[in-house]
Amino acid sequence: MAAPDFEIPQFQEHAVLDIPKIKEGAMSHIKSFVAGQSAQEYLGYPWELGENWKERAIERMGEVLKKYRSVRVFLDACVHCGACTDKCHYYLGTADPKNMPVARQELMRKVYRRYFTFGGKYFPWLVGAEDLTEEVLNDWYNYYHECSECRRCSVFCPYGIDTAEITMAGREILNYVGMGQKYSNEILVKVQKVGNNLGLPGPALEDTLAGLEEDIEADTGVPVKLPLDQKGAEILLVTPSADFFSEPHVESLIGYAKVFHAAGASWTLSSLASEAGNFGLFNGNYETMRKVAMRIRDAALELGVKRIIVGECGHAWRVAYSYWNTLTGIGYGGEDPYSQMLQKQLDHRYPQPMHICEYTWDLIQKGVLKFDKSKNDHRIITFHDSCNVARASRMGNEPGGQFTIPRNIIRAVANNFYDMDPNTIGESTYCCGGGGGLLTDDLMEVRVKGALPRMNAFNAVVQQNGVNFLALICAICKAQFTKVFPYYGFDMSMVGGVHQLVSTAIELD
Ligand code: SF4
Ligand code: SF4
Repeated sequence: MAAPDFEIPQFQEHAVLDIPKIKEGAMSHIKSFVAGQSAQEYLGYPWELGENWKERAIERMGEVLKKYRSVRVFLDACVHCGACTDKCHYYLGTADPKNMPVARQELMRKVYRRYFTFGGKYFPWLVGAEDLTEEVLNDWYNYYHECSECRRCSVFCPYGIDTAEITMAGREILNYVGMGQKYSNEILVKVQKVGNNLGLPGPALEDTLAGLEEDIEADTGVPVKLPLDQKGAEILLVTPSADFFSEPHVESLIGYAKVFHAAGASWTLSSLASEAGNFGLFNGNYETMRKVAMRIRDAALELGVKRIIVGECGHAWRVAYSYWNTLTGIGYGGEDPYSQMLQKQLDHRYPQPMHICEYTWDLIQKGVLKFDKSKNDHRIITFHDSCNVARASRMGNEPGGQFTIPRNIIRAVANNFYDMDPNTIGESTYCCGGGGGLLTDDLMEVRVKGALPRMNAFNAVVQQNGVNFLALICAICKAQFTKVFPYYGFDMSMVGGVHQLVSTAIELD
């Protein structure tokens, strides 16, 4: 790890951080790289500010306000009570007041008032309305890319105002005037051109899976398969492409394969849908999100599968659980002929889609899977609730299943488990600091500082309980923590997936 050119925040004695003293402009120097011509044009956006950028921005804002009523309600409803101010991990880690959720909202609210409210049009100085200037637009760009759309602030707002939706709207308008973010937009191009966020072509995927099969057999003596593009398979597994080659992600992929093997399931991966992630969510553009999601419907129809299961990825599960039904017809909602065709094809005795944790926990409850828990005895484990799973989705039939099911699996496969401070998990979980399109090296300072609240709570269980393993069900959290752990003095091998633990303990015939 190269020496950072910024100060690493210090841990505090208590698991929950004190509220920092404000440092004006502490993060104003950070600007994520702006997308270039090819990515912007591919996505249908301009790639530089034209002369009429302001008119275009206000026009798009009007469209967004009409299309997403929630954004307008959120912009109108805030009473500035301050309950959200200290709830954002980026504020807690950076002390920049513009990273307070209410301040992040104000960046858009003052422009909204100026152009879309009576008071703002005629008496702007009375109602805190402001013109949209290039300076304001630059602030939008900086601070809407210092929000991971984690929704923690909305849990504490008495009106449920969701800053994530305002961030999405801000990014949509920025894209529309030619200020898209390089990292997210280039990924959106790759997933549409190649099939996954990493740009891994079909033949390379096939080789990778064959190599993994050899590794598993060498390790266990059991010929566990990772089938690709198997027509007529019952289950299509859609998983983040990081699972195919990144560490520790690949350990979870091996875990899923072992679970399917042990259950005798007929399953397949797809080279067409070799990515569960959907960065369209981060940009707040429904059409882009739909195009990315449509690969999964196409693969499901082509392969004739009866069930769709999603691997360990937080925002992918949010899109799958909350939006796939109307985007693609997976689940109920899509009304076009292909959605209806898919509805007839899928087996509705099962949730469509289903999370891999739901699948594994169901098999555990039915006694299908056998484990030797002692194989995980070298690990003292805690679990991080990923924000998109925790606050934007669910698992199983019981409320809160997204919190209990992964923990139930961990307890079924390992003996040593300790939760972190209750104020930092479940619905109140802190974001890893790298979600929402921030997992890029040009935002490393934001990522490291934004991880502080989670790292501080993790450090508390390390000190108190000797925890040495942070279990996750999100590809972005895995990538983020492996990168930021060393900044806080922890080894990156302490990070891993829930199905990595399953993989270690499962007994295969
Ligand atoms: S959504 Fe998350 S990152 Fe964004 S302002 Fe709220 S708490 Fe901060
Ligand atoms: S908690 Fe809600 S109402 Fe209060 S300042 Fe924050 S966004 Fe506004």
